[in-house]
Order: sequence, then C-alpha cells, then structure tokens
Amino acid sequence: MNKENTETMIEVCNECGKSVALGSGLFVNRIVDFNDLEERKAMGKPFYIGDYICCECDLSLQGKNINEYSND
Ligand SMILES: [Zn+2]
Repeated sequence: MNKENTETMIEVCNECGKSVALGSGLFVNRIVDFNDLEERKAMGKPFYIGDYICCECDLSLQGKNINEYSND
C-alpha cells in the first residue's frame, strides 16, 4: 500500500484554469503549487482547486512582480 498514490492531484492551473495534464501542451512546464487548497483560496486564486500553475501564468506572475517592483 502506497499512501502517496492515494492523493489525487488536480491537473489544472490554479491561475487560468487550463488543464496541465499529459497531452495538454502545458504538461511539460507545469509547476506544482505547494500551497494547499485553503491557502490558495485565501490568496484569491481564481481556480484554487488546481494543484499546478502553468508556465504561462508563472511567467505573467513573475512579470507582475517585476512591474510592481520597478513601478515605484
Ligand atoms: Zn495558467
């Protein structure tokens, strides 16, 4: 019995709601979001059920942070 295998990962980007499952095109560069569901909800993620962030959203999140930083 492997306990870890019973945990189901929701293969959806929690920022844009796109599928990051195998064959979706976003599978390769997907990033696991280590925040749990409650934390993601508290952060205001629009698709907080997703256990992943796709590379597109990861880039735009980084872009946002850089903009906010350099806007000052
Ligand atoms: Zn996304």
